[in-house]
Amino acid sequence: MSKRINFARGVPAEEAFPRAQLELCVQALASSREVVAYQYGPAVGPLPLREWLADYHGVDIANVMAADGSVALFDILCRIWLKPGETVLIEEPCYDRVVNLLRRYGANVIAIPMEADGPALEPLNAAARREPVFMYTVPDFQNPTGTTWSAAKRQHLVDLARSHDFRIVEDSPYRLLRYNGTQEPSIINIGRDVTVQLSSFSKVIAPGLRAAYLIAPPDTISAAAEVAESTYVTPGNFALSVTGEWLRRGFLGDQVAALRRLYAPRLEAMLSALDEFMAGHRYVRPEGGVFVGVTLAHPIDAQRLRKEASNAGLDVADGDGFFISKPSATFLRLPFSSMDEVTVRRGVEILSAIIGNELAK
Ligand code: PMP
Repeated sequence: MSKRINFARGVPAEEAFPRAQLELCVQALASSREVVAYQYGPAVGPLPLREWLADYHGVDIANVMAADGSVALFDILCRIWLKPGETVLIEEPCYDRVVNLLRRYGANVIAIPMEADGPALEPLNAAARREPVFMYTVPDFQNPTGTTWSAAKRQHLVDLARSHDFRIVEDSPYRLLRYNGTQEPSIINIGRDVTVQLSSFSKVIAPGLRAAYLIAPPDTISAAAEVAESTYVTPGNFALSVTGEWLRRGFLGDQVAALRRLYAPRLEAMLSALDEFMAGHRYVRPEGGVFVGVTLAHPIDAQRLRKEASNAGLDVADGDGFFISKPSATFLRLPFSSMDEVTVRRGVEILSAIIGNELAK
């Protein structure tokens, strides 16, 4: 039997984990007299990693907190900033784990529809007047659509946040995974006074390290550290120290280059398969990341689609979790990072045949 095709999760390619480099770093930590990786430590994470991150981002060390996974950091931000019933703005569709967390905190979530270059401005302007506490955004190669915000929309959001006194949470796990085109400015670099940035090495090194971090003003870092200390005492210092050692040894540039070489043709294969098999539907053309979001021209019974696809050896995600208001009968998130070009193309071909059959019923 041929291997199942995974369009359900955007996981990194297994062959890209930098195993030999990580082995060197683990060995170095094991043979050193240094105890940071082994001992309890500050709730903000081990100092060497934070020093590297502060230098890389051109900020003070007081602006940096490392933790186990960026969703954990987002959870902490919700705990320090949000009271039930308060308003939060998100993109729609939005990263599903964030949608779930905001629901759990009882937030009044306003979802701003996404266009090809970021949020639709009219609903964004209207929502900004509803006293939001913050807007959560993934402006580079968004999960789940693959969309990248234009520089003008980034600037517009910063202007809105300043004039309506709300914060911006910029979540950037895919930012380094650009395969062509030019990088847009980070929102935090446009409006440091109103923005905090989350990032993660899950997509660049390996998600098993859980290495993630927050760049924010010192008072936010202190408040977040207090919550962290009372919940998990110290983050996973061993994995974070391995990550810090890997960064210190300068492996990041080559790893990002290797990922670009591996993923660029996979994205190309995804887009050309969509052009060939699904041209009647709507999708953005990302220049990086790990997903392409597709909006079908007609609604479909998503449950039956998933079942039919599964019978044909293709796992497809439930698109409903990305929407706050009503389930989407048209949205599909198609990841391409963990499959070679032939498999990506085959997956789109199978999917389009099933969609064609369903729409013909
Ligand atoms: N934010 C976004 C937008 C993501 O897509 C992901 C991973 N799917 C994460 C955060 C989670 O990152 P981490 O592994 O650091 O928790």
